[in-house]
Amino acid sequence: MTVATQFTRIPHPAPATEQARADILAAPGFGKYMTDHMVSIDYTVDGGWTDATVAPYGSIALDPSAMVLHYGQSIFEGLKAYRQPGGGIASFRIDANARRLQNSARRLAMPELPVELFIQSIVELVDADNEWVPKAGGEDALYVRPFMFATEPGLGVRPANSYRYLVIASPAGAYFPRGVKPVSVWLSTEYVRAAPGGTGAAKFAGNYAASLVAQAQAAEKGCDQVVWLDAIERKYVEEMGGMNLFFVFGSGPDARLVTPSLSGSLLPGITRESLLTLAADAGFAVEERKISTEEWQKKAKSGEITEVFACGTAAVITPVGSVKSAAGDFTIADGEPGEVTMALRDTLTGIQRGTFADIHGWMTKL
Ligand code: PMP
Repeated sequence: MTVATQFTRIPHPAPATEQARADILAAPGFGKYMTDHMVSIDYTVDGGWTDATVAPYGSIALDPSAMVLHYGQSIFEGLKAYRQPGGGIASFRIDANARRLQNSARRLAMPELPVELFIQSIVELVDADNEWVPKAGGEDALYVRPFMFATEPGLGVRPANSYRYLVIASPAGAYFPRGVKPVSVWLSTEYVRAAPGGTGAAKFAGNYAASLVAQAQAAEKGCDQVVWLDAIERKYVEEMGGMNLFFVFGSGPDARLVTPSLSGSLLPGITRESLLTLAADAGFAVEERKISTEEWQKKAKSGEITEVFACGTAAVITPVGSVKSAAGDFTIADGEPGEVTMALRDTLTGIQRGTFADIHGWMTKL
C-alpha cells in the first residue's frame, strides 16, 4: 500500500489580488504568468524523496557548482488542468506524464519519482492555486510544469547524488496567438534535434536548447516552426518544434492517418498516442511508419495528402498549411484547416473539457 506523502503547505503571504488574477486570466497568453505557489521535493541518494512542500512561488538558491548548471541533468513534463463544466478540475492522462518523467529520468541517470508522488504533487499545487484554473467552457486551462534537476555541488562529471523536483503552473490561452490558423514550417536539413542512441525520446532540457538555433533559422525563412528530420539521412520526418506530426491521406470516411513511428529520437507525445486511439475510434485507418520529405512533397502536390497537423499538450492540434525547405516550397491542399484535423481536435478537446464522454478513462479528478 502506498502511503501518501505529507506535504507542508506554506501559504503565500501576499497572493495576487483577485483583480490582478482576473486581469491575467482574461488574457493569459502562454507561459507568461505563474501562479502563487510551487511544489518542491528534494531527493538524495541516501535519503530518498523528502521535504515535500507547497510554498510561495519564488526564487531558489543554487550552489554555483550545482551539477545541473555544468552538465545539464534537467528534465521536465508539461500537462494541463481543465476546469470541468459540472465543477471540479481534472487532468488528462496524468499517469502517462508521470511515466514519461520516469523514462526521461532513466535516460539522464536521474532518480525516478514514484507515479503516485507525481500525481499527488500536482493535486497539491492545483488545490493551493485552484483559483488560477481558467473557467470551464473556453479554450484556456492551467498549464502545469513539473521538472527536476541536479543540485549536488561539484565539478566531477558523474550522475549527481542530489536533485530537486519542482512543480510550477501557469494559466494558458492559445499557444499560437493566431488561433487555429495553419502554421508554416521549415524542414531543417542543416541542424538535427536528436540522433539514434541520443536523448531525443526524453523530455530533456538540452534537446530544447539544441533546437533554438534551428527555430531561429525557421523564423529567418519566414516560417512559424521547424520540422526535424532523422539525423542520419536527413530524409525522414521526425517531429515539429514541441509537437508530433500527423499526415492525412484521402478524405471522408476513407481517410487514413500516418504518423512517424517512434524512432527513438522523437518524443513519444501523449497527444500523439491519444489521437491514434481516437482516430481508430472514429473509423480511420491509422499507421505508424517512416514518412520521407519526398513522399510528403510528392503526395501533397498530387493531392493524396489532404491534411497535415501537429499535436501536443500546449497547442493541442494545429494544422500545417505550408512547407519550406532548401529543396523548394509547397502547400497542403488549400492551406486551410482540414475536416479530419478539426474533427479530431473537437473530440480531444471535448474529452479534456468534460463535454464528451471520457470512454477511455483518461481524465483524473484533481
Ligand atoms: N515533441 C516534443 C519535442 C515536445 O516537447 C512535445 C511536448 N511535450 C511533444 C512532442 C508533444 O507531446 P505531448 O503530446 O505529450 O504534449
